[in-house]
Amino acid sequence: MRAPSFRWHAATSLADAARALAAGGPRALLLGGGTDVVPAIKRRQYVPELLISLRQVAELGRLEPHGASLRIGAGVRLGALAADDRLGVGHTALRRAAGVVASPHIRNVATLGGNLCLDTRCNYYNQSLEWRRAVDYCMKAPAGVALAAPAGGTCWVAPGSPRCWAVSQTDCAPALIALGASVTLVSAEGQRTLPLADLYRDDGMTWLTRRPDELLAWVDVPAAARSTYWKLRRRGSFDFPVLGVAAAVELAGDVVTAARVVLGAVASHPVVVPTESLLGRPLGDDAIAAFAELATRLAKPLDNTDYQLGWRKRVTRAYVVGALRELRGDDPALLGVLARRQAALIPA
Ligand SMILES: Cc1cc2nc3c(=O)[nH]c(=O)nc-3n(C[C@H](O)[C@H](O)[C@H](O)COP(=O)(O)OP(=O)(O)OC[C@H]3O[C@@H](n4cnc5c(N)ncnc54)[C@H](O)[C@@H]3O)c2cc1C
Repeated sequence: MRAPSFRWHAATSLADAARALAAGGPRALLLGGGTDVVPAIKRRQYVPELLISLRQVAELGRLEPHGASLRIGAGVRLGALAADDRLGVGHTALRRAAGVVASPHIRNVATLGGNLCLDTRCNYYNQSLEWRRAVDYCMKAPAGVALAAPAGGTCWVAPGSPRCWAVSQTDCAPALIALGASVTLVSAEGQRTLPLADLYRDDGMTWLTRRPDELLAWVDVPAAARSTYWKLRRRGSFDFPVLGVAAAVELAGDVVTAARVVLGAVASHPVVVPTESLLGRPLGDDAIAAFAELATRLAKPLDNTDYQLGWRKRVTRAYVVGALRELRGDDPALLGVLARRQAALIPA
């Protein structure tokens, strides 16, 4: 597969990238590591007129303490992030999530910014141009920077649906939302900071609230006393998540004083599960079971990723239980095969 021709701009600073993005208009596309964008261009899901590489933007490669948080530049590579000692025990969920994205080769190139802005995915969308043409395309085919093909108008997962149900399959977003991260977007006009959860829309086609002239510059990540990330995928070596469970809790003794639980890959956006029922009490078996039931009701897997959707919903319950039991300090040996599989997924 060959890429169509485009103009190339290697941005040298954040300001330069923002200027180029503003000048480039709607057919300008940002390139982080390119691990998702480049194949998508070859498949004609994007036909950019201008590609703006962020690789040489030194400001985006920084990782440093910022007050009580860690400020991580959008250009930081996932492999380096997962191995960075400045991610302490308070950032376990992020270290785990970054460490299980794709394969080591991809993590050495892929950036945190690209992971957080990752396009939504669907069995009817992540296909070659020929495949998509054969089914008369789908509703999402024209998504992205430019039309690659005429809009088909049908969501093949739910043909009667007026909306696109492509799935958010980024690993790092649920983990960072569970940690309470905020994100700063920069444009030629200025900058704005928002909770990371607010970057996402429940819409497979327009999955980010980022304006086309904005780029993601950095993420501020507070530490949590205890956090974890559990990922379900077919092959432990490099598959996208078909379920991600990120959880973070603060405990006073054994009483939960704060909690965030976020589900990935079960909707077009990371799903934040309300945690009121966990607060002010110990993480007992009954509280965990009732909470897992609620989380499972909110998970809406559809038949557009790997595995059978009813089974994925059942695994949601098991993963939420397992993640919370891990956070309350249960002996990993007692958590059974699911927990052992999670441990095996994390690179040493
Ligand atoms: C075989 C394979 C397996 C994969 N498995 C996983 C997986 O398990 N989990 C997972 O999460 N992902 C997976 N991916 C997807 C992808 O590799 C990762 O999400 C990666 O982190 C994307 O980062 P990148 O820097 O390469 O992004 P790019 O491909 O450069 O960009 C991705 C998107 O983000 C935008 N973008 C990039 N940087 C910025 C910025 N600073 N501001 C605004 N927008 C920006 C781009 O324009 C594009 O829309 C996989 C990919 C492949 C090919």
